Amino acid sequence: MNYFAGIEAGGTKFKTIVAHDPDHILAETVFPTLDPENTLPKVLGFLSSVQSAHRIQIKAIGLACFGPLDLDRASTTFGWITSTPKLKWRSFPILQYVQENTSLPVKIETDVNAAAIAEGKWGAASGLSYYAYITIGTGIGGGLIYNHKPIFGLSHPEIGHMRINHSPQDPFAGNCPYHTDCLEGLANAPALAARWKTEPSTLADDHPAWDLEAFYLAQMIHNLVMTCSPQKVILGGGVMKRAGLYHKVRDQFKRSFQAYIDLPFLDNLDEFICPPALGDLAGALGAVALVKDVKQYRSSEDQC
Ligand code: ZN
Repeated sequence: MNYFAGIEAGGTKFKTIVAHDPDHILAETVFPTLDPENTLPKVLGFLSSVQSAHRIQIKAIGLACFGPLDLDRASTTFGWITSTPKLKWRSFPILQYVQENTSLPVKIETDVNAAAIAEGKWGAASGLSYYAYITIGTGIGGGLIYNHKPIFGLSHPEIGHMRINHSPQDPFAGNCPYHTDCLEGLANAPALAARWKTEPSTLADDHPAWDLEAFYLAQMIHNLVMTCSPQKVILGGGVMKRAGLYHKVRDQFKRSFQAYIDLPFLDNLDEFICPPALGDLAGALGAVALVKDVKQYRSSEDQC
């Protein structure tokens, strides 16, 4: 059996697995996201220790990385993290770092695109060719898959930064350093904490915070359906662990959408707006998928 490394480089933690597929995960670990020189050697050291302990040779490494990333193959900075607010990671050539320090084939994709790929291959979007995966946590990011590939045009999409209507009942200004009250600025976990002056985990299930959160997330889904027509919208991330939030988002979406298009999914929103089937492993498994199936995805055409 061939084993691959899947590294999910997230804003708060690096989750790393060595696996063949979701049913064959040999090892996994998590390190906090510090600066590059205090994070990446630990990740690569873990891979070496797994190889020694299990007497295997990892075939390739998939990197599912927070962004924004330069994924333009013609660019001299392809594989670099670009304008992130995490200053130590800004303009950091993460793809090249992993390649040079392992001598293994490495492929890179955004963390959310990788998670979306994994959900299509093994999870909630199995059998679908056009769907969206959105994560709502410290940030809000999303991957759009079309014909089994992440959409890539000018760059990768930044769904979290779409403009939405700011509720007149919401006095919080928004916290996006670029757009103030874009979706991420109003609905990420830090926005919840700042608006209600407490950690979101301490808010009761029936607190009005969750109705407002659902109002904002439903607008995102409304916009995605009207512009991209996905067959399914998967919502993941820490904020979505709140009991009852999926139900509120579906209700708000139905109210917003107003049956404008008569589609059968309106009678079964539990299926249309759903959690990830792979849970917290979606990103790392997506990183494995990048290198496991080299012909299947755009990001795997010529690096491996
Ligand atoms: Zn923004």
